[in-house]
Amino acid sequence: MILRKFFVGGNWKMNGDKKSLGELIQTLNTAKLDANVVCGSPAIYLDFVRSKMDAKLGVAAQNCYKVAKGAFTGEISPAMIKDVGVNWVILGHSERRHVFGESDELIGQKTAHALENGLCVIACIGEKLDEREAGITEKVVFAQTKVIADNVKDWSKVVLAYEPVWAIGTGKTASPAQAQEVHDKLRAWVKTNVSEAVANSVRIIYGGSVTGSTCKELASQKDVDGFLVGGASLKAEFVEIINANV
Ligand code: PGA
Repeated sequence: MILRKFFVGGNWKMNGDKKSLGELIQTLNTAKLDANVVCGSPAIYLDFVRSKMDAKLGVAAQNCYKVAKGAFTGEISPAMIKDVGVNWVILGHSERRHVFGESDELIGQKTAHALENGLCVIACIGEKLDEREAGITEKVVFAQTKVIADNVKDWSKVVLAYEPVWAIGTGKTASPAQAQEVHDKLRAWVKTNVSEAVANSVRIIYGGSVTGSTCKELASQKDVDGFLVGGASLKAEFVEIINANV
């Protein structure tokens, strides 16, 4: 019997303020939630969010740098994230890759440094529309996963988020079959290239326009172990998505 606890990440991106996030946290704190929940807060609110959020709910930074400290204007380190009581970081998000030009190599270095410094990592991968249309989805996501895997020693600290770029923020959710197909292939890749035990235990979550109305069917797919949710994680509907597997 393989038990992978359903995992739902919220990615608030560059949205919200103390008032609106405070209200959202209040909703989450008082709701009955049946999943591991981790909310990705803007860096400037990490301390505030951690102080308001119930201890059973996790908080994540949306990015971090690959070294502990120094002359890196605008960056934050895993040590700083830990210092405000936050234990998670989202790395390799498609907006970091494609808006801010982060390479696979940099994402790998960040993954290694974050894990070495005691953070858990939601590591994101996913193909662009032209890559899907060119039939190279597998090639792209396997290459991205390899760079992450090369930098992971303890897989219990890692959640893999498959987020097709064409589905992020577009309202165009991958169909349950499309998501399941890639998740299944990713799990097989992990089995071959890491180990069977890790393939069985690692949570592979789906992201890209997940909503209250699409979450149940996606959650019913064998290899979909949760979600990474952008837009809908800022709304009360997020509670329904967290409980999609109940
Ligand atoms: P979305 O974002 O749910 O708004 O599509 C998902 C993500 O970027 O993680």
